[in-house]
Amino acid sequence: MHRVARLALICFLAALLPVATASATPPRKILASTFPIYQMTRNITAGASGVVVELLLPARLGCPHDYALTPQEMQKLRRAEVLIINGRGLEEFLGAPLQRAHPGLTVIDSSRGSTAFIPDRAVGAKAEQVADADDHADHADHAGVNPHLFASPRMAAEQVLTIAAELARLDPATGPLYQRNATAYAARLEGLAADFAALGQTLSNRRIITQHGVFAYLARDMGLEVVAVVSVHPGQEPAAAEMLALIRQAKGEKVGAIFTEPQYPDRVAATIAREAGIPHAVLDPAANGADDAPLDSFETTMRHNLQILQSTLGSR
Ligand SMILES: [Zn+2]
Repeated sequence: MHRVARLALICFLAALLPVATASATPPRKILASTFPIYQMTRNITAGASGVVVELLLPARLGCPHDYALTPQEMQKLRRAEVLIINGRGLEEFLGAPLQRAHPGLTVIDSSRGSTAFIPDRAVGAKAEQVADADDHADHADHAGVNPHLFASPRMAAEQVLTIAAELARLDPATGPLYQRNATAYAARLEGLAADFAALGQTLSNRRIITQHGVFAYLARDMGLEVVAVVSVHPGQEPAAAEMLALIRQAKGEKVGAIFTEPQYPDRVAATIAREAGIPHAVLDPAANGADDAPLDSFETTMRHNLQILQSTLGSR
């Protein structure tokens, strides 16, 4: 589509979308789609009186690929005053159900303020699709973008600042608190990101294989190369021929380690690691947790990941 025409269409669609705008009654019931977004929002709203943050999906779920909402979760959508999502297609399960349950619900997309997206291997995106993704006019623009921003402290910090800015627009009276909390939290996440980047500089082998595409952004932050993923479609195990190709690739490209995730079984990855003669270890993308997880659970998990990366990939 011609750029000007496309821009006009985007403006038209944006006018129709229930994006965050200042309202007479600030939202008190905030619904977060996934556990990472829930933890970000709890950090941002800490100390805000009368504000309740609820989690839409089960805290233990992890990545919601191929998820289908339950009737109870549809009820949560009906009751919500604002919904905060990861964005970039991670909540594909939400489209039609949200239209049915609460078509006018205000939605804050935490990815809205970010730009440096990575193509999604599963979709085989073309570069221009990714470059256009920040136009963010409709769902189709998400095609081909890796949605796992939350597993990178650097991208998560951007999400936190975006959520806080949108909440402050909806609730100007509490806005300064949201902004203050977000700035402090984002600074801690940036500190974490700097530690990951520094570790990346010292590693003797920077080529890795991961379970699915969840660590694409973290790897980029560290200067690591994800040479392959075990499950191109998350949760689906590779066929025998694909496994053999992964073993050959791990050997041929001198991969340093395979990293699995707590959310998925590690049987296939363990076999590949054994056959290729390389180590495998668990990295936690902090995609899930306990309902009452401490506010600093992301930082604790990521600090542990730092140790795992250090011990698995070694130092020069
Ligand atoms: Zn995922």
